[in-house]
Amino acid sequence: MPTPFWQEGLHFGCTRCSACCRHDPGFVFLSGSDIERLLAHLGLPFREFLDKYTRAVDVGTGWSISLTEKPGYDCVFWQAGGCGVYAARPVQCSTYPFWPGILDSLADWRSEASSCPGIDTGPLLGGESIKSRLMARMGNKALILDYALRWETVDENTVLGRTRLSSHAD
Ligand code: SF4
Repeated sequence: MPTPFWQEGLHFGCTRCSACCRHDPGFVFLSGSDIERLLAHLGLPFREFLDKYTRAVDVGTGWSISLTEKPGYDCVFWQAGGCGVYAARPVQCSTYPFWPGILDSLADWRSEASSCPGIDTGPLLGGESIKSRLMARMGNKALILDYALRWETVDENTVLGRTRLSSHAD
């Protein structure tokens, strides 16, 4: 396997500009552990969380759970000053911009800089830190639920049951 271009590190310093959380439509897909963390942070019952902050998205093999957006395409959790659930934000958010695709090549990394002013600025982040963020992103699989499950009636046990069982087994 060729040595990745980021092996010796990359400069990154988030400017908290919120460009990755606002103005454009997009999906923030949730894993079981993302949902568990947000439920604990918000102190909400599962169904209330689902109805208030999420939507079902057909991903071709089933449906996934994404955060919703406000009018104007700001993330539902964005508020003046930044992310309203920062400490419990989804892994998709906390690992940006160290995602597969963006880290595939130096050209991809540089291209992403047009969307993120933090790229190629700030302190040098070492290769191991980059790798751990990339692995966290890749390991945090979004839930894909069977088409037979109906959004209106899906419950906590159905969506999170398997996550809880596997975390108990760890
Ligand atoms: S676009 Fe980049 S610099 Fe701006 S908030 Fe997102 S990660 Fe930080």
